[in-house]
Amino acid sequence: MSKGQVRKAIQNFSKIQKNASSADVYQNVVNHPWAQPLVKALNLPIPLQLKRQQQASEEFLRGKALFGSATTGKKEESAAATAILSTLASSSAKLFFSKGDNKQQDLMNASKAYPLRALTDATQKYSALVYDATSITTPEELTALYDFYHASITKLAEHSRIIVIGLSPSSCKEPAQSSAMYALEGFIRSTAKEIGGKAATANLIQLEPGAEHLLESPLRYLLSRRSAFITGQTFNVHKVSGSNESINWRQPLLDKTALVTGASRGIGKAIAETLARDGAKVILLDIEPCKSDLETLARRLGGHAVIADVSNKKGLNKLIKDVQKGSDTIDIVVNNAGITRDKTLARMDTKRWNSVLDINLSAVQRITEALVDKKILKVGGRVICISSINGIAGCFGQTNYSTSKAGVIGYVEAMDKVLARRRITINAIAPGFIETQMTQAIPFLSREIGRRINSLSQGGQPEDVAEAVAMFANPASAGLRANTLRVCGQNLVGA
Ligand code: NAP
Repeated sequence: MSKGQVRKAIQNFSKIQKNASSADVYQNVVNHPWAQPLVKALNLPIPLQLKRQQQASEEFLRGKALFGSATTGKKEESAAATAILSTLASSSAKLFFSKGDNKQQDLMNASKAYPLRALTDATQKYSALVYDATSITTPEELTALYDFYHASITKLAEHSRIIVIGLSPSSCKEPAQSSAMYALEGFIRSTAKEIGGKAATANLIQLEPGAEHLLESPLRYLLSRRSAFITGQTFNVHKVSGSNESINWRQPLLDKTALVTGASRGIGKAIAETLARDGAKVILLDIEPCKSDLETLARRLGGHAVIADVSNKKGLNKLIKDVQKGSDTIDIVVNNAGITRDKTLARMDTKRWNSVLDINLSAVQRITEALVDKKILKVGGRVICISSINGIAGCFGQTNYSTSKAGVIGYVEAMDKVLARRRITINAIAPGFIETQMTQAIPFLSREIGRRINSLSQGGQPEDVAEAVAMFANPASAGLRANTLRVCGQNLVGA
């Protein structure tokens, strides 16, 4: 690289910085054409910018998808394979299976309903490699999984998806099968690390037998660009009764009302926008200083603003009164409001400890239980609570925050049993490093490390969390209960 080229690249640095659309300056710089000679000369890593959903109408899967199944000599396809193929067939992707694989041929013969083709062109790239592992019964049979991905992983396109569907280990009668199903988690976690450089993701769905009809919602989500920042994760799909609603996939939340706390900015704002995009009427809550931003957002989304502080009883009463005034009942509650008040334990005063525990944890409990007890939250409703990976891993200077966010995960697990009686699902989302005002406040070096130490080498966007909330809120997600989904690009923290 000549001196002139270096000078030109450096001159353009400030221009790029000024025009950078996200706060991730490094990523904007290294991806800019002007910077390429310098990037190459210094051998700098270039994180591929994730492709996210642009429009609500966007297809959930395009291109070519390769499907495989561990039918292990059985001629009949598994119940999961039928559900997977039916979902894949409802996309515009062309479906393929591996040529020369007799078991696959048997499966295809049994799947006459779906137009699958034999893989003929070895050079083609796939936007998805989907594998049904539900028929695997022993660790030895995991070889079939290896064979499928060993042969196909080099044909994975950028921004593509690997999805394995197994059984939930606790549902397996034999220890050998349970162990094989558990082993899939390790396979997915390592694979996710190997393909992250392609901005590709790998995830596992664990099914309870009998829950196959509830596979479509998580499968569509994971195949789509809505899940761009989700990788190395496991989704648990439980069997539930009475959940065969027909879904309008374009606007699944039409006729639903959603409450979002802490909605004036950051992640809460993105959640409100996404739920409104999906058809929900939104009730947005935030505190007095955020009034103007909140009301502007509520007007734009055709929703309703509630100014209340979730940290006190007065705020809770105001929330209940306002909700009842507006719409009587609600379908979806998103407990998003949260704060940080960092100090090491020795220097942390009681006020910092109490305020974080109260807003991040006790308020979640108060709001959820008040809405359930007063029957404002409908039967079949959805509760989604925002935790944090720091609640899983812990974080220096955040004993208060990590305690509160771990408590949220525990609350979700415990409340699942209580709410299941009313067919209400409750799930937690644990974001990693998300580009918001909260993370802008982190010192530069820690912030730069925070956004790079994941398999996708970049920070997430508020819409990544919002899309996960929308997926849990979907009426078709009745089988997703008591999950803690990490929206973190497979961050090393707590992994
Ligand atoms: P944010 O930008 O600070 O937004 C949080 C919102 O909640 C703010 O509007 C805040 O208002 C509001 N709020 C605070 N106290 C409240 C109260 N007592 N009553 C009602 N509203 C209140 O934070 P964010 O980054 O979007 O985070 C949203 C959630 O995600 C939080 O629960 C956070 O812990 C979690 N999270 C974020 C990240 C991340 O990387 N950003 C990672 C993991 C988890 P004020 O700011 O005016 O107080």
